[in-house]
Amino acid sequence: MHDVLVVGAGPAGAYAAMRCAERGLDVLLLDAESFPRDKACGGVVGDTAIDFLGRDVLSLLEREGRQNRLFYDWRPIGELDARIYFFKRRKFDHYVVRRAEAAGATLLENRRVTRVDVQRDKVVARANGDAYEADLVVGAEGTNSIVARAIGASPHAHTQKYASIKAEIDLPPEKVAALGIDDPPHQNTYFFSDLMGFGWIVPNDGSINAGYGAFMRHATGLRQRFLDFLAHFDVPAEDVRGAQIPYLPARRVYGDRVMLTGDAGGFVNPWTGCGIDDALEASEHLSAVAKSAADRNDFSATALRAYQDAERDHRRWMQRRGRWMKALDLIFPVGARFPKSFRSIVQLGARLA
Ligand SMILES: Cc1cc2nc3c(=O)[nH]c(=O)nc-3n(C[C@H](O)[C@H](O)[C@H](O)COP(=O)(O)OP(=O)(O)OC[C@H]3O[C@@H](n4cnc5c(N)ncnc54)[C@H](O)[C@@H]3O)c2cc1C
Repeated sequence: MHDVLVVGAGPAGAYAAMRCAERGLDVLLLDAESFPRDKACGGVVGDTAIDFLGRDVLSLLEREGRQNRLFYDWRPIGELDARIYFFKRRKFDHYVVRRAEAAGATLLENRRVTRVDVQRDKVVARANGDAYEADLVVGAEGTNSIVARAIGASPHAHTQKYASIKAEIDLPPEKVAALGIDDPPHQNTYFFSDLMGFGWIVPNDGSINAGYGAFMRHATGLRQRFLDFLAHFDVPAEDVRGAQIPYLPARRVYGDRVMLTGDAGGFVNPWTGCGIDDALEASEHLSAVAKSAADRNDFSATALRAYQDAERDHRRWMQRRGRWMKALDLIFPVGARFPKSFRSIVQLGARLA
């Protein structure tokens, strides 16, 4: 029997496991896949994640950028100044998993959890025919969380998710140079009058990451649009992967013996669809609450509510941004007629984000 069982070893789960282990708890970390593994993502990380992980993680950095250049219907409309770190998820996620193991957490790979039972005195998770027991379970297995179901949380609504797709493409230096994103390294973000979302291209070391995302309710034909987007830059469609991203926090991220973090709890920046920074921030609070619950041997929902309380400001910020997104339905299509206003709105949103 473990103190904490973490389901999902992405950044949210691996960081929660690492911090719980560092706080002296006995942690079991289960993942359906084996590491290193890839994940559909732009690999764009902000200062928050670097602050939580420490500057050692920068040894994995592909590129560091200071700017996000904005385009509307292919025309440049301005830029945002921002420090952005470009990583490959395969390496980044493996790094956090190794940090969790170094802190003392036990990792079991190729274990897909199919059922979680919360009992009076323990929680039992079943994966590949085996049962794993702990005082507390952390749901960190992404958008379609099985652990969330154990506390009766309904899955993220279709209307509150992005559909997003990316490609990671190896390119010779002259081709990356021709794309104009590596001197100095920066992100290009593309808005279109007929897309409720955006596309991006970022430089990596010897490759690029390109992607496309839109509100689920407007995502019909997204894959073909993305392939056309890649064709516009004359780059091949390699390693194309897609996934859904929630952009509103779950109503409740705790229950008896249960806490949710990362995409499973809807901890994502609604404005950008980026979730790594928010996942680590949530997992930091979660680990503190897990430790104090273990010290008092009280894993009731009443005790674990302290987690949602600690995340109050963060969750309010996400909810406010998420509601704002509704206004974009009106703003996106008219950006072509009022490019300066459109740019100001994007700049304002980014500052608030
Ligand atoms: C195309 C795309 C681009 C994106 N770009 C960015 C970006 O540039 N920057 C950014 O910050 N965010 C980005 N995001 C969002 C980001 O990927 C997520 O917010 C982030 O991965 C959340 O981390 P997580 O640990 O909660 O979940 P994940 O990273 O999804 O990890 C979940 C883990 O759980 C495991 N798992 C799943 N089900 C089970 C199960 N039943 N049992 C056991 N294990 C299980 C999976 O194998 C996985 O390892 C992007 C998303 C997409 C789809």
